[in-house]
Amino acid sequence: MFCKTCNVVISKNLDFLKDTTKLNKVVYGKDYIPEGFYILNDGEIYPDRLKGWILINVKDLINSKYHYDKHRLNGCCGKDGLDGNNKVCLSNHEIGTEMSDCWELHLVALDPNLVEYSF
Ligand SMILES: [Zn+2]
Repeated sequence: MFCKTCNVVISKNLDFLKDTTKLNKVVYGKDYIPEGFYILNDGEIYPDRLKGWILINVKDLINSKYHYDKHRLNGCCGKDGLDGNNKVCLSNHEIGTEMSDCWELHLVALDPNLVEYSF
């Protein structure tokens, strides 16, 4: 994945996840998707906010940092990602949202309008 604005690589090399039985849809506070894979969210989870977004493991995001707007970084023990995109590339371009709080499925959702995902 690349930041569309500056073309910096923002994820490790990822394969499209074909075996959806590997997705964790029930245990909150754990990874939704295994490391090394991405999936397009067809609306199965968080359809109101993240339908059509690219979902990856939190550990697979690189060359990124948290948003400079601290109001985007709420959460109890992680980041709940409910206040707009909370992750930016190294040049402060918004790329998506980390959800890593104890009551959520852990993932990074990348905004398809902000990242390029051709491999
Ligand atoms: Zn960028």
